[in-house]
Amino acid sequence: MTETPKLDLLGYTRSELAALLEELGEKPYRAEQVLKWLHHRFVSSFDEMTDISKALRAYFTEFAEIHEPEVLHEKHSNDGTHKWVLKARSGSAIEMVFIPEDGRGTLCVSSQVGCALDCSFCSTGKQGFNSNLTAGEIIGQLRVAVQMLTSKYPDRTRVVTNVVFMGMGEPLLNMDAVLPAIELMMDDLGYGISKRKVTISTAGVVPGIRRLAEHSDASLAISLHAPNDAIRSNLVPINRKYPIAELLEACQQYADSLGDKRTVTIEYTLLKDVNDQPEHAMELATLLQGFPCKINLIPFNPFRHSDYRRPSAIAVRAFQDRLIAAGFSTMVRTTRGEDIDAACGQLVGNVEDKTQRQAHYQKIVRG
Ligand code: SAH
Repeated sequence: MTETPKLDLLGYTRSELAALLEELGEKPYRAEQVLKWLHHRFVSSFDEMTDISKALRAYFTEFAEIHEPEVLHEKHSNDGTHKWVLKARSGSAIEMVFIPEDGRGTLCVSSQVGCALDCSFCSTGKQGFNSNLTAGEIIGQLRVAVQMLTSKYPDRTRVVTNVVFMGMGEPLLNMDAVLPAIELMMDDLGYGISKRKVTISTAGVVPGIRRLAEHSDASLAISLHAPNDAIRSNLVPINRKYPIAELLEACQQYADSLGDKRTVTIEYTLLKDVNDQPEHAMELATLLQGFPCKINLIPFNPFRHSDYRRPSAIAVRAFQDRLIAAGFSTMVRTTRGEDIDAACGQLVGNVEDKTQRQAHYQKIVRG
């Protein structure tokens, strides 16, 4: 006989929890109490939920669980960046990074164990794909970070003000878990992070952007990395299925659906001699003319067995200046946490490639 898996309560949104409680004959408002125990007081057992009935506590103890990803290691960079290696349910390891900056703190979370998209310059992709994280494992990352930062910095000098889905995985290929996790991040009874400060970054999964528009008002970032389809298809293979014009159109619709003049972030990893030349900057400026965006340039972060190189600081600056001259707000993402391999594209965890990346990827590209 197979046992039914326990309810993964950390991943339940306010309305899902209310529906569950109603089904059990409890008052739906009890959901608010339960959420506070889970996400404000960080309890690890149901016995600690002293303001809910004994019967409900007993029910939860038998049929539900509070499963937070286990911390396997932690590293602290000289620049204040923290990196955690966490154990996913599948047994593989995932990574999460906290980046403190003046007046804010950004937590970079993972959405999958590994990634199926195989972008040529990303080390996560090189590990292949293992599994999706659950909603509980995604929100569990924030829960782990908040507890650790609160205990280490009781003066609240380090708090999570922003969350970016820029760790391992492609969030828009795991929407069923990502959507409830975003809702909990923004809920006041969850983590109360403003909708503008939760950012989903995608390699360009167009149907996912459309679905996101229907269900969420988080901020959107896209990994463009190229001014034309020829270069982009080499770097980001999913471009062969959803080329740039289609991607930008979906982003425009997403920005319109927010209705608050928010821009889309364009991520552009600069690779020496591949996409960093003056003509690429000009072509990018033409491509993005009139598009409501901010550009984020990311100098390539090298990893083992990669042939790509990072352009010089002078080349990066020249690329940025050309875009600024063309009227775009353009930032260079300073490399943080490099000494602990916590920079963009360096998050690899320890992924057992269960499903064979190529097979999985072909399925996605061919549709
Ligand atoms: N799958 C999502 C989120 C993951 S990565 C996406 O593609 O957007 C977050 C950002 O880091 C992406 O823009 C990604 O393209 C970029 N990146 C990946 N590897 C990198 C590397 N080695 N150097 C610099 N940026 C990298």
